[in-house]
Amino acid sequence: MSCDVLEVDFDARGAIASSGVVDETTIPCDDVVLAIGQENAFPWVERDIGIEFDNWNVPVVDPTTFESTRKGVFFGGDAAFGPKNIIWAVEHGHQAAISIHKYCQGANLSDRLPRGVNLTTAKMGIHEWSYSNDYDPAGRRIMPHVDLKKRFRKLNIEVELGFSAEDAATEVERCLNCDLQTVFSAGLCIECDACIDVCPVDCLTITPNGDQKTIEANLKTARLEPEQELYVSGPLKHTNRVMVKDENLCVHCGLCAERCPTGAWDMQKSTVVIPYAIDEAERDEQLCRETRKAG
Ligand SMILES: Cc1cc2nc3c(=O)[nH]c(=O)nc-3n(C[C@H](O)[C@H](O)[C@H](O)COP(=O)(O)OP(=O)(O)OC[C@H]3O[C@@H](n4cnc5c(N)ncnc54)[C@H](O)[C@@H]3O)c2cc1C
Ligand code: SF4
Ligand code: SF4
Repeated sequence: MSCDVLEVDFDARGAIASSGVVDETTIPCDDVVLAIGQENAFPWVERDIGIEFDNWNVPVVDPTTFESTRKGVFFGGDAAFGPKNIIWAVEHGHQAAISIHKYCQGANLSDRLPRGVNLTTAKMGIHEWSYSNDYDPAGRRIMPHVDLKKRFRKLNIEVELGFSAEDAATEVERCLNCDLQTVFSAGLCIECDACIDVCPVDCLTITPNGDQKTIEANLKTARLEPEQELYVSGPLKHTNRVMVKDENLCVHCGLCAERCPTGAWDMQKSTVVIPYAIDEAERDEQLCRETRKAG
């Protein structure tokens, strides 16, 4: 398969600003499967109605409101910022719906409810948690697939065969509980080291505070992702040392919180709050009621 080698320049948004062919290369292959790309085309949008197009012939769209340069005309999905994926298309739809609601109300399109994260403890009793805690060292279950030859004979065949009941049960227990966060209260810590001892991945360290280099030299386990920030607590009350956690290693098993005698570590469920058009409408109604009440 012969391919052109391109040299590409990116603009400030990370989009391709210009490109040119600089070479040609040949990749030896037995078979080549074509994956069809996609392209935006708007020949049907008149160019004199106030919708500006950029040098790629796609509409200029506000990244917060999804409004084009013509008031009251909104774009979302691949039409807004070029090919992305279905998750983005749905998110754009939600954001554009908020804008359309505000536009119909004559409100400021940029005045949007903030996003947030709610944290609530998962502790239900001394050793009871509202999720399946504990560390499961089982390896990842491999999803069985339909044989490759069968897949080529019948392209619309469902490829993934599904887990057996046993594998499914093992796989869910491997869950990293990403929605459960480890939350530390420095004021409660008595520096007993129990959490340090029990952590199955050695991602916790109690150490004198210092610059990044000094702290890193004292970590129980070397870092795998040096770019990711470490959690460094405030000073612990007995020795002024700090609790350090490498979030990259943590498997959210909750054993630190289970073992801690003072509740200094807690496992807290995090709920991401993303406002939708209905939340904006409810806020508008509430503001209306309050204004009426105030006379
Ligand atoms: C080969 C391929 C594989 C992909 N795989 C994935 C994947 O696995 N997962 C994933 O998340 N995303 C994937 N994507 C990306 C995903 O399909 C798109 O990001 C998503 O479909 C965009 O949704 P959309 O509603 O913005 O646009 P589209 O789904 O393209 O919908 C636009 C619709 O508008 C219609 N239309 C166009 N012009 C007009 C007109 N003038 N008048 C009336 N109707 C018109 C089109 O016929 C189309 O139905 C893939 C894309 C391609 C091309
Ligand atoms: S939740 Fe994280 S920090 Fe706590 S014991 Fe498990 S792996 Fe270690
Ligand atoms: S188990 Fe609790 S009290 Fe003991 S060192 Fe860890 S956080 Fe501090």
